[in-house]
Amino acid sequence: MKKLNKNLRFGTLSIHAGQEPDPTTGAIITPIFQTSTFVQPGVAEPIDGYDYARVKNPTCEALEGNFAALEKGEHGIAFSSGLAAIEAVVKCFSAGDHVICEENTYGGVTRLFTKVLSNLGLDFSFVDTRDANKVQQAMRPSTRLVHVETPTNPMMRICDLEAMAEITRDANTLLMVDNTFASPYNQQPLTLGADIAVHSSTKYLNGHSDIIGGLLATNDSDLADHIRFVRKSTGGVPGPMDAWLCLRGTKTLHIRMERHNQNGLAVAHYLESHKAIKQVIYPGLDSHPQYELAKKQMSGFSGMVSIDLGNPQTARTFAESTRIFQLAESLGGVESLISVPALQTHASVPADLREQMGVTEGLVRLSVGIEDIDDLMEDIEQALP
Ligand SMILES: *Cc1c(COP(=O)(O)O)cnc(C)c1O
Repeated sequence: MKKLNKNLRFGTLSIHAGQEPDPTTGAIITPIFQTSTFVQPGVAEPIDGYDYARVKNPTCEALEGNFAALEKGEHGIAFSSGLAAIEAVVKCFSAGDHVICEENTYGGVTRLFTKVLSNLGLDFSFVDTRDANKVQQAMRPSTRLVHVETPTNPMMRICDLEAMAEITRDANTLLMVDNTFASPYNQQPLTLGADIAVHSSTKYLNGHSDIIGGLLATNDSDLADHIRFVRKSTGGVPGPMDAWLCLRGTKTLHIRMERHNQNGLAVAHYLESHKAIKQVIYPGLDSHPQYELAKKQMSGFSGMVSIDLGNPQTARTFAESTRIFQLAESLGGVESLISVPALQTHASVPADLREQMGVTEGLVRLSVGIEDIDDLMEDIEQALP
């Protein structure tokens, strides 16, 4: 088998990392090892540690190796969902331990922390992580983890990852970055000092809206062992078919993201010039208050664009009038989607907190896909008042 050089570039790694032709047949594509168990030649003598598929499965391992290379991490760990990945990290801690979390994080993460894990005795503080001082002030001796998201959903807040890593390093706590919105093509948190880069691979990594999945990467071997132990003990592993689909998705991540970046920027510029729009929120526009920071730590800005239409009725009518942008939650697939976060993805966030962050009923979120840009523009134009 030909050995892969680790210093290859992103697009080459997307296609080749983590995979070798199947040693028994030479099949160029990693097989879907659709099996729950593995036959052992003697008692407690599994071949290469393959004893049971909750612990190890070759298809999942190929995905993990591929993804780790894209995030510039030593270890990749795959899960049944993005939330299962985040949960597994926090379950490495104990009752009494404290976690600091970005306040505008994905609604499901807020729910996991406040409604499930806090019942088990873990403490959570929610802060605006755009302000490093607020994170510093929220630190306690029991703080084990700072969990940030950048850009955030749907307000596109940017967290300064190098500044955050300095704080967590000094405090001897871990920094976990939800990199779902940017994808490793645009931003690599581990290279900026984060301990863990976590994803809902349901979104850009898989990219075809046909699985639910999670992935995380780290360079810390002890931490990786601990997280794998939690995964094996709690069971949030992906099925081999889903791992295989995700691996098919990551092979085209670089070309998909290039187009998402182009289309996202084009749509953001167009919307900014439209009279019906009060505000366009996109980290790649120089009107974004943290544009300079976004440019510093991201190489592209992806396809996520939020717009403030000023009132709930206009927002609802717009979201229901597009013909190519389908009205659905989720993001990051090849097809364009549109949603009203306050009434959909963020409905479970308390109304006062939502309003305070700007997630009003007049806010519409677009996941700009990779269709022909002129069709997307025409679709938006006919749907706007
Ligand atoms: C979707 C999403 C999650 C949750 O992932 P699932 O795969 O749905 O469990 C977490 N973070 C972000 C930013 C997301 O968009």
